[in-house]
Amino acid sequence: MKSIRLRPGKEKSLLKGHPWIFDGAVAKGGADSGETVRIESHEGRFLAWAAFSPKSRIRARVWSFEESARIDEAFFAERVARAIEARKLWRIESDAMRLIHGESDGLPGLVVDRYGDTLVAQMTSCGTERFKPTLCKVLLSQTGLGKLYERSDGSVRALEGLPESSGWLAGEGPVELLIREHGWRLGLDIARGHKTGFYLDQRDNRQRFFQWTAQRAFAQVLNCFSYTGGFTVAALAGGAGFVTSVDSSAPALEQAKAQLRLNGLDDSRTEMLDADVNASLRRFLQEGRRFDAIVLDPPKFAPTSAHAERAARAYKDINRLALQLLRPGGVLFTFSCSGGISVDLFHKIVASAGIDAGVDAFISEKLGGAPDHPMTLCFPEGEYLKGLVLVRKT
Ligand code: SAH
Repeated sequence: MKSIRLRPGKEKSLLKGHPWIFDGAVAKGGADSGETVRIESHEGRFLAWAAFSPKSRIRARVWSFEESARIDEAFFAERVARAIEARKLWRIESDAMRLIHGESDGLPGLVVDRYGDTLVAQMTSCGTERFKPTLCKVLLSQTGLGKLYERSDGSVRALEGLPESSGWLAGEGPVELLIREHGWRLGLDIARGHKTGFYLDQRDNRQRFFQWTAQRAFAQVLNCFSYTGGFTVAALAGGAGFVTSVDSSAPALEQAKAQLRLNGLDDSRTEMLDADVNASLRRFLQEGRRFDAIVLDPPKFAPTSAHAERAARAYKDINRLALQLLRPGGVLFTFSCSGGISVDLFHKIVASAGIDAGVDAFISEKLGGAPDHPMTLCFPEGEYLKGLVLVRKT
């Protein structure tokens, strides 16, 4: 068994249960891509079993802090079983959910979403890549399902020195699927959609937006970065008068139109604009258009804290414009899914957008990701999706 010796004092985060070992912490040792290594303190004390990533800044990711653990099929079966069991703790109003959420479920580099009877996996580390056949077998046996599609095509694969990889790992079937979320039916495409096909992390926030709409009967709603129209369906189902959706992906907007038909919603109460959000917000301002509710759910502007400054300006810009476009008493659902922007920083950015806009607002609610995308005490990086519900002061 190969071992990695850390520099003096570099064991601190591991002793607190954090699963990452950065390249700068390693004094000596190496292994093949994804190989399991024994991590030792400078004094030679056992710290963890981890998967080695020769090219990544995150040089190793911990599988287990137990010296007696063996990283084999039985180990992965137990981790997957535990993750599935944890999902039973939460009431998930859908037949689609995240079954494995990486580090939070003790499986760094592995994301698995379940859409009805189909599993979609993303393997983003050398460790998960090396154990792919084992993980595939275990995922099928623990869920009792037969279809597993791989979507390992995110940019993080390049950081690990891994090529992109997509396609069926087990079974075969349609890639266009239908799921049920709350009372709605939603279509998605696991081969061509973003991430694994759908933004399951926004499930409860879409429901919350539906509730606000039902209560306040918004006349004019603007859904920015609408993707396949999750928030659009929520608004229309809640009785919104008219919903404008803006996204720069034409296929996503086509799917959004299909969602309306699927749910028997009146498409004369919507417009779908294939356009840049920033430019659209400026145009609406110039045209004097105003809205009773706005959703801002942009893509990840800051994947890591290194991008935080530029991202902060981008977040501030769209939030300033959105606050200006809100009628007094209007409601803004604003989000950031950037791991590099903390809850506090996001709050500050939105506050300074308000100052620039000359608009004050009540912070009515603080939102996060759906519970099947959990964060843990030991891994604060797991908190990536945050949102605020603001009500513009009159
Ligand atoms: N709210 C959605 C998820 C949004 S994901 C849901 O509930 O499902 C972010 C979306 O922003 C993607 O669909 C992407 O196509 C879109 N996007 C990214 N940059 C954009 C831009 N500059 N203007 C318009 N849309 C953009």
